[in-house]
Amino acid sequence: MTEPMLAEQARRGRATRAEIDLDAFAGNIRTILAGLRPGTALMAVIKANAYGHGAPPMARAAIEAGANRLAVATVGEGRQLRRAGIDAPILVLGAIDPGEAPEAVRLSLELTIGTEPLLDAIEQAAANASDLLAVHVKVDTGLRRYGAEPALAVELARRAATNPKLRLDGLATHFATSEDDGDTFTVEQRAVLLHVVDTLAREGIAPVSVHMANSGALLRGPEFHADAVRGGIAIYGIAPSADRPLLAGMRPALTLRSRVQRVFDLAPGDTVGYGRTFRAEQSIRAALVPIGYADGYRRQLSNRAWMVVGGERAPVLGRVSMDQAVVAVPAGVDARLGTEVIVAGGDPALGAPSMDELGDLIGTNSYEMLTGIAARVPRHYLRNGEIVEIVDFANE
Ligand SMILES: *Cc1c(COP(=O)(O)O)cnc(C)c1O
Repeated sequence: MTEPMLAEQARRGRATRAEIDLDAFAGNIRTILAGLRPGTALMAVIKANAYGHGAPPMARAAIEAGANRLAVATVGEGRQLRRAGIDAPILVLGAIDPGEAPEAVRLSLELTIGTEPLLDAIEQAAANASDLLAVHVKVDTGLRRYGAEPALAVELARRAATNPKLRLDGLATHFATSEDDGDTFTVEQRAVLLHVVDTLAREGIAPVSVHMANSGALLRGPEFHADAVRGGIAIYGIAPSADRPLLAGMRPALTLRSRVQRVFDLAPGDTVGYGRTFRAEQSIRAALVPIGYADGYRRQLSNRAWMVVGGERAPVLGRVSMDQAVVAVPAGVDARLGTEVIVAGGDPALGAPSMDELGDLIGTNSYEMLTGIAARVPRHYLRNGEIVEIVDFANE
């Protein structure tokens, strides 16, 4: 579709949408790449619908901007990318059910092994395959989640390295506290992984790639970069924590936006929304915004969050309901039907709560806010400020 047609589709579509600035995203990828040692690969983590940004367009944009590989959490996420025609290497980071191994092999997904039963299933599935299957052995170095403890990891890696149908592509671990300032556990975890790497090297077994860094570790320093880094939250332009700022020039790709659908006056004593949790003490101009908890704008944000209308803060009044929320129109702002509302994220200069701030209001983080943006929120992809693609499940 041409840009004018997309702009027209956007005008006729739902007011609530997530705008994704592909230029910001590509800039983030390039900035990270520029900070890596030559030869270190960037794996763009596209799991959870690319942290809510929409997986196929972000996967394409990541590869185009120079990311070397992609990572997802589930076989289904890998299938979605393959169906979209993406043929880049895709690593499934998470534990999968042994029953999923044949499908993963069919899709040429690389798998992360942390248990014997999964390696058994992969060996069986790979036996009939024509191509070598790339596998990564995950070492549990202290996160105590997925991965094999070091001794088992050595055994799994040996088996993978000697199976003619498999290729031991990676040895990996995942950090528990890499985004915390003053943390020493990350250094300990790294040492455990490198010990496993050494043990195998002494037997002549070398993986193609050793990788450990999530965003927290990749921003922390080159000693964690190894052969590849797995960049998630940072590629979307959000720091993993306040202790680990982004590199200069990196910026959030996603802005959650809507438009006013009704403006009305509250008289003193009026209450707003279910449960009557907000009561006007004076006359207030209010605006209805068509976004609710079914869009991922969480109900706990009731009476806590704010949006931006006319460049000013517009506090949320009363309960956020399933499909709508009400805000106070800021003094001096002429809000009317169709007035633009910035709900969250985007350029900090816009004044909307960042995904971190939104998360902080309700005791969670940017990751959960982003991945909570529902499928029914259309995603508009922009380059040079123009919409170049719209993904709207209602049009599929
Ligand atoms: C999600 C994930 C990442 C990316 O983490 P960020 O903090 O978003 O950079 C890296 N590695 C693994 C194993 C993951 O599950």
